[in-house]
Amino acid sequence: MLKNCRTCHSLFTSSKYDICPSCVEAEKQLVVEIKTYIKKHRQATTLEIARDVGVDVTTLLAMVRDGRLKMMG
Ligand SMILES: [Zn+2]
Repeated sequence: MLKNCRTCHSLFTSSKYDICPSCVEAEKQLVVEIKTYIKKHRQATTLEIARDVGVDVTTLLAMVRDGRLKMMG
């Protein structure tokens, strides 16, 4: 089954993510940055993380939903 990538809208074969493999790779770097941020700011809310790291809240929430990112609380 083919899906449209949520980020770049290209078609890709369905995986557990709703973004294509190349966007998964691109977001891996972002995940590292977010994890570093969370370590330094344990009380940060989703909105603060999104604003300070420079990522869409939607993207951030999708990462959490996909299990790529664990929020502290
Ligand atoms: Zn993509």
